[in-house]
Amino acid sequence: MKSRRTKIPKDVADDIQFKSDLVCVVCEAPGDHIHHIDGNSSNNDPDNQVLLCFRHHDAATLKGSLSRKLSSGVLRKYREQHYKKVRQKRYVPPVIKGSKKLIQISEEVFFQLTMDALVCIEVEKIRVYFRRYDWKLI
Ligand SMILES: [Zn+2]
Repeated sequence: MKSRRTKIPKDVADDIQFKSDLVCVVCEAPGDHIHHIDGNSSNNDPDNQVLLCFRHHDAATLKGSLSRKLSSGVLRKYREQHYKKVRQKRYVPPVIKGSKKLIQISEEVFFQLTMDALVCIEVEKIRVYFRRYDWKLI
């Protein structure tokens, strides 16, 4: 008996396409098809789906141990790595409010500026503390 295919809900399909940046998670060619990893076309759990190009969709659906190139485990690894890469690509660094305009800086620069500010605060504490003493004695 053949299982009846249930259509992938639009919000799930939209989410998969967005997370994949519209490309195949294996080769980054345009994504042509949302593949059901477990082979059950009615299982529309987002964890069971991955966007693939036609070539990799064919590779994932080939049957037989010798010709099967993309197992469910390999597909999930490619998908997780690809989703991470897309998230990093879309990462927007923090914004610092300047005197005239907003300046975008990288996470590294933001960290360095924060550390510099903390050093300034500590130096000021030391300066205030030793103000009570005669610098010539120190
Ligand atoms: Zn591909």
